[in-house]
Amino acid sequence: MLKCIQYLKGADVMPAVAKVVVDVPTQQTNQPYDYAIPAALADQVVPGVRVVVNFGNGSRRVMGMVVELPESADFDGELKPIEEVLDKKPVLDAERLALSRWLADDSYAFWITCIQTMLPGALRTETKLLKNHQQVVVDKGRAQVFAFVVPALTVAQYQAALATVRPNAKGQLALLQALIAGKIAPDGIQVSHLEKKLDVDRTTINKAVTLGWLRAEKREIYRTPYSDLDDRDRTQPLTLTAQQQTAYAAVAAAVTSKTAQTFLLEGVTGSGKTEVYLQLIAQARAAGRTALMLVPEIGLTPQMVGSVKGRFGSDVAVLHSGLGNGERYDEWRRIARGEAHVVVGARSAAFAPLQNIGVLIMDEEHEATYKQEDAPRYHARDVLLWRARYNHAPVVLGSATPSLESRARAEKGVYTQLMMPKRANAQPLPPVHVVDMRQSELDNESGDFSQQLLDALKTRLQKHEQSVLMLNRRGFSSFVMCRECGYVAKCPNCDISLTLHMDTHNLRCHYCGHEEPIPRECPSCHSPKIRYYGTGTEKVEQTLTKLLPDARILRMDVDTTRRKGAHSRLLKQFGNHEADILLGTQMIAKGLDFPDVTLVGVINADTALGLPDFRASERTFQLLTQVSGRAGRADKPGEVYIQTYNPDHYAIQLAQRQDYERFFGYEMHMRHEGGYPPYFFTFRLTVSHEVEDQAAKAAFRLADMLRDQLSDGAVILGPTRGAIARLKRRYYYQIVVKYKREPHLTATLAQMLETTQTSSRSGFQIAFDREPLSFV
Ligand code: ADP
Ligand code: ZN
Ligand code: ZN
Repeated sequence: MLKCIQYLKGADVMPAVAKVVVDVPTQQTNQPYDYAIPAALADQVVPGVRVVVNFGNGSRRVMGMVVELPESADFDGELKPIEEVLDKKPVLDAERLALSRWLADDSYAFWITCIQTMLPGALRTETKLLKNHQQVVVDKGRAQVFAFVVPALTVAQYQAALATVRPNAKGQLALLQALIAGKIAPDGIQVSHLEKKLDVDRTTINKAVTLGWLRAEKREIYRTPYSDLDDRDRTQPLTLTAQQQTAYAAVAAAVTSKTAQTFLLEGVTGSGKTEVYLQLIAQARAAGRTALMLVPEIGLTPQMVGSVKGRFGSDVAVLHSGLGNGERYDEWRRIARGEAHVVVGARSAAFAPLQNIGVLIMDEEHEATYKQEDAPRYHARDVLLWRARYNHAPVVLGSATPSLESRARAEKGVYTQLMMPKRANAQPLPPVHVVDMRQSELDNESGDFSQQLLDALKTRLQKHEQSVLMLNRRGFSSFVMCRECGYVAKCPNCDISLTLHMDTHNLRCHYCGHEEPIPRECPSCHSPKIRYYGTGTEKVEQTLTKLLPDARILRMDVDTTRRKGAHSRLLKQFGNHEADILLGTQMIAKGLDFPDVTLVGVINADTALGLPDFRASERTFQLLTQVSGRAGRADKPGEVYIQTYNPDHYAIQLAQRQDYERFFGYEMHMRHEGGYPPYFFTFRLTVSHEVEDQAAKAAFRLADMLRDQLSDGAVILGPTRGAIARLKRRYYYQIVVKYKREPHLTATLAQMLETTQTSSRSGFQIAFDREPLSFV
């Protein structure tokens, strides 16, 4: 068999060799392997299909991705054959195969990891061991298929059939009568619906199929999220304001001329960026091209999805991690099959199987969620820029508070800057009051609330207007501590305190998922004085209920939004004015557009400022500006209260004035002084091991290698223990490299991977992160 294939190859009949990236993520396997294509599979093996191959010695069977059909093999031994082809059609096209390769290089991740990341979860395979010790590769992708029946005869024929039915065959009579009366649609009905509709059983329906009355068919029904939005009337484009028109026209010109130009759309909150996006999407569609729009997270999606679906209906597919596996798989296939041409989604939607993209949009481009924290550690912005070049299409990066990196690029002329400094409703930005919490007389009753904020809330209740209250949870959580000895409940696997969850009454580690019951007495000193600490949203809600007994409060945080659809349900309730106050974590800061919200309160503005993170000020400024922007978006003027212990900090002061320009100038100065991005490129390397000493030794060795091989211009920080030194039973050490130009960096890192790989059996893990969002 193998000989025969090699013979065919020589005879130049059909491609006999496939290059396959196998699902074995290691440094040695980070390149395609040659496999023989058996004649029987010859026309199924094309680039972009998943296959099953035997890998290594013995009977290990793994999934592999065909990436190329070369003229001849590079490997001159006997080739193993491809055993099975999993896809009828390629799941990655030429663009996304090239993208996967680029992503692997750009993020120093394994190629197969990048390929997996680009596919929906349903197309990730699982290897199972059978009883006979054979391995099989199982696909999780399942289309949702239903049995349908379609009327197969004429009314006259059904009437004739009536005479042949015994009078006690009630089901058959009912069925025939329905067919004669035209109660069954000519294009058919789902069998389970027919059963209910006529109260007949499946045997009767099967009999009718056997008798030729009905034709049986299998039909796929897509699991479409937000399908309720598809049947609504479409919204009409608004007449653009002058500033919207200018921004729109600039990008539209690049859509028409097919130019891969990047625009930074800097529009204050409420300036109407969404309408600009929608009209650009419409323009791309009118030109027969598709559109890709990213939003930061599920929290933002419901309203944005509503806006985009409202304009483009079922032509829109939605992709984000909050959907079920089946829904995502079906949305993904609607896109791949060219049935949906507009994609709205979170980070991983950057890989959506769209073709011929006409415009790419990233809303709230400064958001940290666009950076993936696990391998491949990519930034969705870079993926969009890559796809823009491939598709000759413009990219719009939109924000009220652009990241310093993007704004600096705009200053250099790499991006084209577009400004929308006014709100679409021509209202001024809401006035912001900074409340100095050091002065505020807090009695136990009012807990976290200053008198000013409380009074403002009461006024809103009287006027039947709505309020949004944000609790900045970053670096803060509820925990359990002993008042007697100071014991804090910690995770046994990680160097992190456990978070208290009142809804499920347990303690949980947010890093490894470890759970345990809430202790009744101190495990360390057995004192009963064990207390709950931290300003959780639950606690604030309780305080608020006491202070404002008449207020209807909705709480929105990880706990109340864990269930599918809970998030949009809460927003809908708030939108319907079923509550007066929306209390939540950062997830309420962005994107929400409710006309009756006239008050925004920030309970604790500065929790993030204390973090040892060079982006702490930027994050704080962005968050406060975003959340302030939720107030007064329609015709009623809004007002904002920010409670802080650092009223003199520039991030708070400039957020109060919503002065991005001054903030940018000042923060750039700080970054220059500190030698931080965007003045330097940065790179983080993390080594981990179950034995702390081993991790430390390896880290020092790698740091020496870097000092040896990089130029004098490179700054090498560390090694230091990770901010969380122990995680999931492993110890972490990190090195940060800051550099301007470092042509040898890539080669050095590759060499490092090879040296640590040789010791991989001794349990090292090494991770690279290009441009980490923080060093902690
Ligand atoms: P942003 O995303 O810039 O914060 P939005 O896109 O949410 O702002 O728009 C703010 C509000 O202004 C929305 O209620 C929107 O419907 C309204 N709006 C936007 N553009 C126009 C326009 N051209 N005419 C009238 N209203 C508009
Ligand atoms: Zn843990
Ligand atoms: Zn104790």
